Formats: sequence, structure tokens, C-alpha cells
Amino acid sequence: PDLIDMRDVDKVFSNGTIALRGMSLSIKQGEFVSFLGPSGCGKSTALKMIAGLLSVSKGAITVNGHPAGQSRDGSDIGFVFQEATLMPWATVFDNVHLPLKLHGLGKAEARERVDEALAMVGLSNFATSYPRELSGGMRMRVSIARAMVTRPKLLLMDEPFAALDEMTRSKLNDEVLALWKSHGLTVIFVTHSVFESVYLSSRVVVMAARPGRVVHDIPLATDIPRT
Ligand code: ADP
Ligand code: ADP
Repeated sequence: PDLIDMRDVDKVFSNGTIALRGMSLSIKQGEFVSFLGPSGCGKSTALKMIAGLLSVSKGAITVNGHPAGQSRDGSDIGFVFQEATLMPWATVFDNVHLPLKLHGLGKAEARERVDEALAMVGLSNFATSYPRELSGGMRMRVSIARAMVTRPKLLLMDEPFAALDEMTRSKLNDEVLALWKSHGLTVIFVTHSVFESVYLSSRVVVMAARPGRVVHDIPLATDIPRT
């Protein structure tokens, strides 16, 4: 069965804005899907509904067979926002550790998980640093580590690198590709960059605005890694 299934989904915000109309989409385990489209076409709204952070106005979304947001184990999903939403008063270690607090892991195991996540993004030596001491690219790596620390199957990224310079962005793109390949992840990557979507994904879902909707769904000739 598909990991994600969206059936004829509408999103109407309480102010009457129709953010999405009739979005249907199935995503299989292991795909790397980009949502590509101009500002306001509902990419972020679609992603947040899949994450269960926003409700659906009409239609249905299931993730792993459960209605979105009702998975018994919320750790199935990692979310990376555009803004590196780190706690400035906490160390890198504590920032990455945060999602585990809800998991009731023992201290030793939690430490192991955080170390593993920091190693994944090459920041093992920065556990005791504070966010302000890091570059923008490194702060984004911390956000990725925080999203990965619960060992999610699904990684949702909402224009994660939009605020970074081109060199950093290009390095991070390669790092995300490596993570995807080595961890058997399913990734949905929201972007308005045609380059990024084609470079990264195994499939590009093109969206248009007013109302937000899917206008093309393009499979690219890229292997889906099997782990
Ligand atoms: P994108 O991510 O493609 O830029 P969004 O999903 O953020 O687009 O927004 C889709 C549409 O919904 C836009 O018209 C946006 O202004 C509107 N929108 C987003 N969030 C809200 C909200 N909380 N309340 C009202 N309108 C919203
Ligand atoms: P940006 O994130 O702005 O592209 P870099 O990631 O290249 O910048 O890192 C900025 C500075 O931090 C560089 O001097 C780089 O050598 C150092 N740095 C970045 N990541 C690491 C790391 N994992 N280990 C050690 N130093 C690092």
C-alpha cells in the first residue's frame, strides 16, 4: 500500500481563502517527491496537512494507513521548516534532544540517538555549541538532525534552504540526497526552484495558484534506493 494517500483534498482557511482544491496524490515508500510551484499555490499547506499540523476541509489524507495527524507514533514524521526554528538558549545537543523528551527513552539511549543524528549531519563536534555560534548552513543541519532524531520514515521539508546562500544550499542538497539514499527515507521537499526539484527528486508534483492545485505529476528517471 502507498505510504501517503490524498483523496480529493480541499483546504479552505477560516478567512475564506481556498488554499487547495481537489488535490489527489499517492506517494510510495522510498520516493523523493518535490512539490514545485509559485508562492501561494498551497505547497506548504499540503505538507502541513500531511504532517497533521493543519486539518483537511474536504477529502481525506492517510499516512501509513492512519488519518493524517492520528498516527499512533508521531515520530514517524520528521519536519524541517524554512526558518531554522532552534531554541537560541539551548545547546545543539539540547535542541536535537527536544523531540525525544516526549518519547520516554532512557538517558543513555537518548544520548545515543542525539549523537547518531549529529553524526548524520557532520556536527558531532558541535554538541555543546549554541545556535548563534554556528553558520546558517550549520543551523540548518541541526534542524535536520532534530527532524531525524526520532528515526522517522517520512521526512517533510518546507523550502528548507531558501534563506541560505547558493554554495551552502548546494552542499545541503547533496547531504539530503545522501540521507535519503542511506536511510530508506520517503521525502517530500517543497520548493519553488525548478533546479532543486529536478536535481533532488524522483518525482516532481507541479502546482499552480488561485486556487492551489496539482497541474502536473512528473516521474523522473531516478532509481528509488532500496534498503
Ligand atoms: P505556498 O507554500 O505554495 O507558498 P501556502 O500553502 O503557504 O502556499 O498558501 C496557500 C494559500 O493559502 C495562499 O493564498 C496563502 O495566502 C493562504 N494561506 C496560508 N496560510 C493561511 C492561513 N493560516 N490563513 C489564511 N490563508 C492562508
Ligand atoms: P555555510 O554553512 O555558511 O556554508 P559551512 O557549512 O561551509 O558554511 O561552514 C562555515 C564554517 O564552519 C566553515 O569554516 C567550516 O569549515 C566550518 N564547519 C562547517 N561544518 C563543519 C563541521 N561539520 N565540522 C567542522 N567545521 C565545520
